[in-house]
Parts: sequence; C-alpha cells; structure tokens
Amino acid sequence: MEIFDTRVKESIDSTHLIILNSRFVVKKIMKKKFLLFVFSFLIFLSANSCRRTSFEKETNKEVILASFTVLADIIQNLVKDDFLVKSITKPGVEVHGYQPTPSDLVEASGAFVFVDNGFGFELWAEKFVSNLKVRRVTVAEDLNPIFITEDLYKSKPNPHAWISPKRGMLYVDIIVESLSELRPSKRTFFEENGKIYKDKLSKIDKEFSLFINNLDKDKRYLVSCEGAFSYLTNDYGLEEVYLWPVNAESQITPKRMVRTISLVKDKKISSVFCESTVSNESQMVVVNETGAKFGGNLFVDSLSNDDGPASSYIRMLEHNLSLIKKGIY
Ligand SMILES: [Zn+2]
Repeated sequence: MEIFDTRVKESIDSTHLIILNSRFVVKKIMKKKFLLFVFSFLIFLSANSCRRTSFEKETNKEVILASFTVLADIIQNLVKDDFLVKSITKPGVEVHGYQPTPSDLVEASGAFVFVDNGFGFELWAEKFVSNLKVRRVTVAEDLNPIFITEDLYKSKPNPHAWISPKRGMLYVDIIVESLSELRPSKRTFFEENGKIYKDKLSKIDKEFSLFINNLDKDKRYLVSCEGAFSYLTNDYGLEEVYLWPVNAESQITPKRMVRTISLVKDKKISSVFCESTVSNESQMVVVNETGAKFGGNLFVDSLSNDDGPASSYIRMLEHNLSLIKKGIY
C-alpha cells in the first residue's frame, strides 16, 4: 500500500511536475505570443501611420480633374507632383457618350478645377459639372475649330483637336495659362514645364511634317473608322476618309461603305485604319473588298493602360504617326 502510495505520490508528483512544466511552457508560449502580438500591433500602428502620412500628403495636394486620359496626361506633365491629377474616364474607355457614375461625382467633389476638351466631345460634361462646385476650364474655348461636314453632327466642331501635335502645343499653352490664372504663384513653374513638354511635341511635329513633305502627293490619304483625324490631316496636308463622322454616331451606312470602298480602290490606298475604342469590323469589310492592308488601331479618344502602346499623350502620338508612316508609305 505504502509502495503503491509512494508510486501514486511519485506519479502524482510527476503529473504535477508535468502540469507545472506545462503551465510554465504554456505561460512561456503565451508570453511569446503576447510579445509577438504587441510587436505586430506596433508594426501595424507604425505601418498605418506611414500609410496615413502618405495618404494625408496625397490628399493635401489640390486635385485637378480632367474629363479624359489624354488631357490628364498633358496636365500631369505641366503640374508634375505639385497637384493630384485624375481623369473621370479611364484608359480604353469611349468618352463621347460616357455615363458618369455616383463615384465619379464623389471623386470630382474634391477637385478645385475640372478641365474638359469641349467642342461637344464630352456629351455628359454639362450635366456632370452642374452637380459640382468646381471651376471649369474648357480648352476648346480658345481653339479654332474644324467643322464636321456630314450627317447629324454637320456644322458642329470636330472635337478631336489634340490628335494633331501642332494643336497639342496649343493645348499646353491654354492649360498653362488657365492654371496660372487659378494658381498665380505657380505660373513660372507651369510655364517652365510647358516649355519642356512643348519641345517634345515640336520634335514629333517636325518629324511628321518632314515625312509628309517627302511623300508622293497621291499617297497622302488617311482612312479611319471615326472622322477623328481632321486636325491631323488638315495640319499636315493629308486627305481624310472615314466610315462615320463621330463615334457617338458610329453607324456605318451602306452609302458610306460603298463610297469608302470605291475611293480606296480608285486611289490605290495601301492601308486603312481604325481606332482603339471601337470595333474594326466595318473597316475589315473595306480591307476584304479592296485588298488594302489593315494598318492597325490608332489611339484617339483614350490612352492605353500603362503596359499598352499609348500610355501617355506623347507615346500615343508616336504610336499613331509611326503606324500611319508604315501604312501609307
Ligand atoms: Zn472620338
């Protein structure tokens, strides 16, 4: 019995020891866990405060809101990091008939200025701005229009003035002046950035002018889906041919299709093009009927994503003009 008692006692003792040990281990683990928790919490706090600091920095900047990506990129090059530039329409999105969302309005409400193209490009802009208390800069108010000559939009200005590098330089001047009036202390900064940016546009303009001047006159045609190239063709001495005048009315009528096909055949036009924001299906009919090549998608109403060929206005012009050169040469 005594032996048993001793064994039991030993057993109890050893169990107790195990329990004590376990408690010690548990305590140790808990202590470790607690320390880990405190440590993680501190990291979380510090990371969060970093994030908050950068967020506050971002939100401390005044917001400039553009109607579309091309304008936003031009503005970004003029204001650099001193302002936060946002675009209502995102890369790849069709702009003419865009329907602003409630979150667009929320985003816009924090901006001090809304910059749009005008010439009827943003069919939604008037209503959109009427819901906001922001200043508005409409670039087209200081531009000379080229008028649409056909159909529903006849006698209305063609909105796509930015498509010509020559007009792009005017966009820079107009935006620099408008923003300088709103924020006079930044005038010199805007003007200096504007000059550097315009030099880049001027280089593109000179190269394309040289190319056209050396091109046979009977090759100077640009065939596209949307009649979005009037400013480019006008400024560089090309003939413009298109399937429909404006994307907002992107209906190809049999009459227009026949007209385009006969012209491409008659003038022996080697390449035809379409735009990135619309289907090239109709232009492929012209390709099949005439034997002309499909020269590719040109970017007009919207930039591409960062990994695309037209991630900035400069890259968009370079991409378009390079496709046109390859196609019509
Ligand atoms: Zn368009």
